[in-house]
Amino acid sequence: MLLLLVDIDGTLLRVDRTVTRRVWSDAWAAVLGGQVPWNRLDSMAGKTDLQILAQLLGDRSAAQAIAPAFFDTLAQVAVESIQSDAISLCPHVGDFLHAMEQSGTTLVILTGNERRCGWHKLRIAGVEEYFVEGFFGCAALKRSELVRQALHWARSRFPAPLPVPPIVVGDTPNDIACARAHQIWSAAVATGPFSFDTLQAHQPTACFRHLGEVALSLQRIVSQASMSRKLIIAIDGPAGSGKTTTARLLAERLGYTYIDTGAMYRALTLAALEQGIPLTDDALADLLDRISIELRHTPSGQRTFLNGRDVSERIREPDVTAHVSMVSSFPSVRRVMVRVQQQLGRHGGVVMDGRDIGTAVFPDADIKVFMTADLDTRARRRQAELHQSNPTVTAEEIKRQLDQRDRFDSTREHNPLRKASDALVIDTTNLTIEEQVERILDYVRQRTAVLNSSSLEQ
Ligand code: C5P
Repeated sequence: MLLLLVDIDGTLLRVDRTVTRRVWSDAWAAVLGGQVPWNRLDSMAGKTDLQILAQLLGDRSAAQAIAPAFFDTLAQVAVESIQSDAISLCPHVGDFLHAMEQSGTTLVILTGNERRCGWHKLRIAGVEEYFVEGFFGCAALKRSELVRQALHWARSRFPAPLPVPPIVVGDTPNDIACARAHQIWSAAVATGPFSFDTLQAHQPTACFRHLGEVALSLQRIVSQASMSRKLIIAIDGPAGSGKTTTARLLAERLGYTYIDTGAMYRALTLAALEQGIPLTDDALADLLDRISIELRHTPSGQRTFLNGRDVSERIREPDVTAHVSMVSSFPSVRRVMVRVQQQLGRHGGVVMDGRDIGTAVFPDADIKVFMTADLDTRARRRQAELHQSNPTVTAEEIKRQLDQRDRFDSTREHNPLRKASDALVIDTTNLTIEEQVERILDYVRQRTAVLNSSSLEQ
């Protein structure tokens, strides 16, 4: 449920400094000849190995050119010469790793070390198997580049937003800075060369004396997050803006329930047409009392049932579409529908799409999105959808119908189609469905981070 990006030296392990320097000296002599100009380097702490090489050479491009050969030798020397007598665990590392494993936290290495050197040290220290992945400093001149790579990896591993942002755990101001550069959290531990007060001055999200304290704090976050309420996500917008497909995929990615409120108005419209009911407020309110409209969630998605009959395809036909805006404009119809929709979403964990979700059904929704797209694009999408059932309908005709329906929906008196003032607007004209879903997921990640941001410090 949490993702930690954990540094090695000074955070998990203490490595004899003279051994590290000897490894560099041997590799330097073998690849470049001569002695390492140590006077050019202020400190190794918090830097990537490529950054250290560049500082020693005084030339970034030269460092990048020589890096493959140099690191190959460095790794060979390290594997031969760093043995267990040169390494010890930092305080409380065992407790920390055990607690994180118990809580289902994902641990990833984020270190300035060269890849094989890093894994070698972890293996010798007996903690390698706690880490599922690693990002290493042999190809990055800056530590923040490693965070970028780690976040890219995390997006495919965790499609749904994490309850709190990933947390960089490290012992140097560089660890704090690289987290800040990507707006994620940092937990600084004073087990390396920097004191608690020095780290604190660099303003990490939270500062700890050792990893045992980090474990306690994170366990509290995990239990808070598991109790936290599931979100209500409201998606509104005009017809053809991509709401339905986006909302359905979003719900799938989050493990939430998708609720298509348009289908409810469409089912009522179908009932009125089939029974020849006049389209008036009283007659429709009376009809609503007598029929049952159900949204059932099946393995193949949401299906709409009218009096027990599956009408999912029937309600998309032109006669229903032509009358649905009129039917849904009546106040009694809206009152009943809004109440039912509020019941359906009251426990959260829903993505609901429609015209008035963020303004009338759930004005306090955790996440509100308003999707738009230009009329031509929306008409083209609708034409493609209708291609099977109605291949002769022209784009012009669809455009006219969409425009008419939007105008009717936006100008009606009761709960018109309107953007909520606090909604995120997404213009989908030039976006793919995947991009639309990713944008909303990013927004959900940001919002959940804001909602949770004080919990690490408490
Ligand atoms: O989303 P869909 O195109 O299926 O919606 C059909 C119609 O139902 C809309 O044009 C609108 O008139 C009505 N509707 C509504 N409020 C909602 C959802 C749909 O008025 N929340």
